[in-house]
Amino acid sequence: MKKKLEQYSISDHGISLKDIDPDVFSISDSLISNGYQAFVVGGCIRDILLGKKPKDFDIATDASPQEICKLFSRAKIIGRRFKIVHVYISEEKYFEVTTFRSDVKKRSNDKKFKTTKGMIKRDNSFGSISQDAFRRDFTINSLYLDLDSGILHDYVNGLEDIKAKKLRLIKKPSISYQEDPVRMLRAIRFESKLNLTPTTECKESINKMSHLINNVSPYRLFDEILKIAHSGKGEEGYKKLRNHNLFEFLFPFTNKILEKNEIYNQFFILALRNTDLRINDGLHVNPSFIYAVFLWPYFLELEKKYSDRNTSNIEEVFNQTLKMQSKYIAIPDFFQQTIFTIWSLQSSFLNLNRRNIQYLTNFSKFRAAYDFFHIRSLVDEDLKRYADEWFEIQKNIKSKNLNKNKNYDKRRKRK
Ligand code: ATP
Ligand code: MG
Repeated sequence: MKKKLEQYSISDHGISLKDIDPDVFSISDSLISNGYQAFVVGGCIRDILLGKKPKDFDIATDASPQEICKLFSRAKIIGRRFKIVHVYISEEKYFEVTTFRSDVKKRSNDKKFKTTKGMIKRDNSFGSISQDAFRRDFTINSLYLDLDSGILHDYVNGLEDIKAKKLRLIKKPSISYQEDPVRMLRAIRFESKLNLTPTTECKESINKMSHLINNVSPYRLFDEILKIAHSGKGEEGYKKLRNHNLFEFLFPFTNKILEKNEIYNQFFILALRNTDLRINDGLHVNPSFIYAVFLWPYFLELEKKYSDRNTSNIEEVFNQTLKMQSKYIAIPDFFQQTIFTIWSLQSSFLNLNRRNIQYLTNFSKFRAAYDFFHIRSLVDEDLKRYADEWFEIQKNIKSKNLNKNKNYDKRRKRK
């Protein structure tokens, strides 16, 4: 793609500067008043143009990471593969400031830059805004807003694509997905979440190149799968992962079982539908939950294998499940704990005696384990009556707690 630069004034692009966080103006002002260029770029510009509230704001500049750090008292360089600077406004609030990346072609023979499989492994050579524009993934993510003049710089016809709701890769898919296979997951997420129409080649190439996803670090994949599951369009995202042959490379053990047993597919769909509802209602979702869901069929299969050998030990089965999966997606220890609790409590939901009820409801992860059990009951008739009982139990506990609080309030008023 070789396009000429288009520049749009505020009246042409229609972005209201009020939609940009005031702290972004102050970072941009500092850079510009010190002789550097500064642009707001990426997902935030895309989201504003699509009428959505941006999640965060990214700034691109020609200042090097070291120069950025010199300008801001609270700034930290992070990342190895891509050096980024976090400029802190307060302890919790920071913005990502990145230096323009240079042209890929010039360094395609550089062994430090690309792996033998053509993946970009490290990219810290800096360039100009026009080079940076062609290093981004999709045209809609490559729009640069100059806060000083209000002019939007577009090297890739991104604004036209946003208006037409088109998802288009900047480079040919055969190169783009090879350089960074995570772009296939990003394509799926943007298509569902932003209601965009991918170009035919952007879409069809995924099926052919899906195996490349296994070249990506398992730690990075953990985050990217969560982003799809927690996008508010997780059900759609899951179906696309399967249709594009990505799921089989991400969860190979589960996938084998899934192909033989449609019930689990229903279970996944219902779990993701439930997650979508929670996200769209602004409720909390635990990252462990969806991994507990996706790995459940494999855990059950291993549990059966172990018990056939009379060596069933839930911890051993759990460790084996996570160990095998970690070659593909690495789940951090902290989240593994919750998965273990959710799975290990499942059999307790079949016991309705009083002591067990008290034992189970006192668990901090009781609610997540119950939700899991409830979704299982929607695809397994035998569990339904237990799930209904547990629903009633929780209702009673809630109303008892409510009465307790009311009596407490009354007593306080009397005093
Ligand atoms: P969201 O924040 O909703 O995930 P985003 O597009 O802002 O979407 P970020 O990960 O915040 O995603 O990245 C910011 C910008 O960096 C993107 O808009 C894009 O221009 C660029 N970018 C991110 N990931 C890639 C990638 N894998 N390849 C090329 N460019 C990328
Ligand atoms: Mg972003």
